[in-house]
Amino acid sequence: MDKEQRLKVAVQKTGRLTDHSLDLLVRCGLKYSRGKDQLLCYGENMPLDVLLVRDDDIPDLVQEDVCDLGIVGANVVEEKRLGFIARGAAPLFIEMQPLDFGRCRLAIAVPEDFSYRSPRDLDGRRIATTYPNILSRWLRDGGIAAEVVVLSGAVEIAPRLGRADVICDLVSTGSTLKANHLREVETVLESQAMLIRTPLPLSPAKESWLNRMLLRIDGVQQVKESKYIMLHAPRAALAAIRHLLPGSEYPTVIPLEGNPDKVAVHAVCRENVFWETLEGLKAAGASAILVLPVEKMLA
Ligand code: ATP
Ligand code: ZN
Repeated sequence: MDKEQRLKVAVQKTGRLTDHSLDLLVRCGLKYSRGKDQLLCYGENMPLDVLLVRDDDIPDLVQEDVCDLGIVGANVVEEKRLGFIARGAAPLFIEMQPLDFGRCRLAIAVPEDFSYRSPRDLDGRRIATTYPNILSRWLRDGGIAAEVVVLSGAVEIAPRLGRADVICDLVSTGSTLKANHLREVETVLESQAMLIRTPLPLSPAKESWLNRMLLRIDGVQQVKESKYIMLHAPRAALAAIRHLLPGSEYPTVIPLEGNPDKVAVHAVCRENVFWETLEGLKAAGASAILVLPVEKMLA
């Protein structure tokens, strides 16, 4: 197929987003083979190729129209966007869809012995970060006069090295902070992986594949939590049991041959089904409860 007709997607080469990103594309139906240089994955059954790069380069590749799409953290997208605006340039990427993985937050953390009550306590302090644009905006919005110390990594050790008083860094579980005797005090930005695209018009063939991918991504996200539940219920308990099925609209109710008092209930539950739910269903009179994974769903 003509090279111009193939969608090119930038994905992180090695890191926290890599497996989730490739897994999402595979769940959307992509079969790929990896090129000799390990940098390009060639889509074998779709006109879609994956370029593997450092996550920080992903917005730039879309900006420069080398790639049509990218999968990257909202933290990186926002930092780049503010950077382009600060330089008087227009960011040429659009955030299309949050992807529900790579969740983290950009947070302010202070040494354990730092007495912190409010953002005012940051006045006159040095804050180390690799996200100077996002941090500066947050400080400006809060009217806080702090000095931003721009580092390229190892932010969490900056206070111990005397390079800064506090830090502004990405946090997910908080274990890195704890290990470095730091305490999280403010959230500057909530983040997760995003699909971004170029604002430039795509060829009709590419646009149509992009739309198909967006629908498939929706489908993938919906089935993640969805389960198919089958159970037997006393007719008398049907109303109570329907009420307990999480996020299901219209269950199918089927008579049971030879047992007029009971019915079989089948339902797609669009929310997670926990043991507590099953225990609740059993307590309400349900029996023979089966919970099955949903493989694909098209609403
Ligand atoms: P690269 O070599 O591609 O530049 P990196 O070291 O910048 O890699 P990772 O640490 O793999 O990147 O993080 C990639 C993205 O994962 C982050 O930008 C962020 O969106 C997300 N993320 C989720 N949880 C965390 C976390 N606890 N710390 C850092 N990033 C996280
Ligand atoms: Zn990076």
